[in-house]
Amino acid sequence: MNFHHKKTVRDIDVNNKKVLVRCDFNVPHNEKTGEILDDTRIAASLPTIRYLLDKGASVILCSHFGRPKGVWLEEFSLSIAGAHLQELLGQPVTLTKDVLGEDCKRAANELQSGEILLIENLRFRPEEEANDPNFSKELASLADYLVFDAFGVAHRKHASTYGVSNYLPCVAGLLVEKELDIMGRALTEPKRPLTAILGGSKVSDKIGVILNLLNIADTIIIGGGMSYTFQCAKGGTIGNSLVETDRIDFARDMLALAKEKNVEILLPIDDLAANEFSSNATPVLVDSMNIPDNLMGLDIGPKTIDLFSNSIKQSSTVIWNGPMGVFEFASFSNGTRAVAQTLANMNEAITIIGGGDSASAIEQMGYASKMTHISTGGGASLKFLEGQSLPGIACLQDIT
Ligand code: AMP
Repeated sequence: MNFHHKKTVRDIDVNNKKVLVRCDFNVPHNEKTGEILDDTRIAASLPTIRYLLDKGASVILCSHFGRPKGVWLEEFSLSIAGAHLQELLGQPVTLTKDVLGEDCKRAANELQSGEILLIENLRFRPEEEANDPNFSKELASLADYLVFDAFGVAHRKHASTYGVSNYLPCVAGLLVEKELDIMGRALTEPKRPLTAILGGSKVSDKIGVILNLLNIADTIIIGGGMSYTFQCAKGGTIGNSLVETDRIDFARDMLALAKEKNVEILLPIDDLAANEFSSNATPVLVDSMNIPDNLMGLDIGPKTIDLFSNSIKQSSTVIWNGPMGVFEFASFSNGTRAVAQTLANMNEAITIIGGGDSASAIEQMGYASKMTHISTGGGASLKFLEGQSLPGIACLQDIT
């Protein structure tokens, strides 16, 4: 994908124009109290919104929130996100009473330069996820441009992420520009050595990523639940650890391919294991290739932490996706924390965290500000690491 050639909000004249901004306000929240648990995605939308206001646009924001599945459900209202945004911006954000109904169209029509309107949850209408052409057309009719700033849903072909581009010129917002620039550069012209750290539970979720990274990375570090399928492929005994038996052949092929391509693959050499999947379980140190029958590996061990850290420290670019163990359990969070700490201390290197669980681990552990970039998209950043085209990006206008 040629992301350097996509127009951004900087390439269009928005003065006195109506600009629809597709944001990602799908923030984690407490379903009972409505309290926002992590406002990263809302905060990340501020540069684009401020830029547009500054340049004299009328700003019409839209987003999804949760999975109301095409039905109006008050608990999925964007009112909480709108109120928080209003606070962050210090200016009124008016929420529409419907989605592309009379109130929404009238409010959009009457909106003045410098004002902000927020359309209610797009997923209150089934047409959004169905990428309905009439819905896309109506959405487009509200504005002169669409600015796409919802990287978290760039891999979705929905009305507001894709269909709308048939009826309205679409350009990237500043957040999407940053995501594409940093991650794109890391994949196409990385400062080498480039190390990819992959973890999390399943090999099957990361097949495309492994295949793509074998063409790009110098080193691939594999930890977490997915490492045991690789240990099996090497002939190891993994006790009760997580394994995808139908992926062992794939893992074996990848180890062979890595050798052919001269890519180093590092796997754990020791693990912290337990006799049950529980936060109260007592960690037992085991050899990764020889885990007793009654134990399951839940974290990488101290020797592995050293092995991984030493390799990471020698890298100039590091891309990380997926925790090194069950970091939700304090006794099995050391591996993930140690890797996060190593990255946090690498001042010269480019450190990129690809959304999802590794992003929340880094936030929780307090290292977020030390990273070059934490992607706001879990699924979207995985697709990006797979080298796949993202519909929400592909449909943006090219610089001619
Ligand atoms: P994923 O959703 O594939 O990114 O995986 C994240 C999840 O993998 C987290 O909830 C971790 O608890 C889990 N995980 C990491 N390591 C292990 C392991 N050794 N055994 C079981 N689950 C793990």
